[in-house]
Amino acid sequence: MNSDKPEILIVEDEPAIVQLVEYALHAAGWSTRVAGDVSSAWECLRERIPQMVLLDWMLPDESGLRLLARIRAEPRLAALPVIMLTAKSMEEDKIEGLDRGADDYITKPFSPRELVSRMRALLRRRLPEHGEALLRNGPVVLDPNTRSVSVNGRPVEIGLSEYRLLKYLLAHPKRVHTRAQLLDRVWGDHVEIEERTVDVHVLRLRKALGDAESLVKTVRGVGYTLSNPQDGDL
Ligand code: CA
Repeated sequence: MNSDKPEILIVEDEPAIVQLVEYALHAAGWSTRVAGDVSSAWECLRERIPQMVLLDWMLPDESGLRLLARIRAEPRLAALPVIMLTAKSMEEDKIEGLDRGADDYITKPFSPRELVSRMRALLRRRLPEHGEALLRNGPVVLDPNTRSVSVNGRPVEIGLSEYRLLKYLLAHPKRVHTRAQLLDRVWGDHVEIEERTVDVHVLRLRKALGDAESLVKTVRGVGYTLSNPQDGDL
């Protein structure tokens, strides 16, 4: 075992794909661990936490989405980067995977080079989160270290996509963001989901913020911006 190299957990039941992915990851300097189904993947995760999980959608015992849900529900693993590997290419499936907390999505067949570059991009996006400062606007406080949001000091339930959207908006106040910009910055360059999906997440975000829902303002014909509490909007 290469204990000095960061480890990637590959959850995949097709030997040819495992072989291809392992070869590419070893060449890129990672060590790998392989699980062929959800239950053995869960055992691996209980043993030690990898740097990232590559997760197939269709597995022999349960679907990869079920494992993803368990990962996100477990506080120790909630922030673990996960890329879904899948033969599914339907728009709704992509949205479902991302909604359930996948960080990125790659459709088979994929090139090993593309996979490695997406993995690196994801790790770069994730790195600044460690030891990051709190983000605030009016009554809303977001803590990147615990991935939590509170309004007037009370914690609120918030989905992963809404959390990321809020984090991005708080980090870039006093700007109007188009839907295309938000898709690109919040969901990543490679994700091809429709712009109206942004509206769905904005609605959910407002609902999650409750009393502070007016924080996220619609700029008609353009996109979204954060209102400034100093202007008396909140
Ligand atoms: Ca499979």
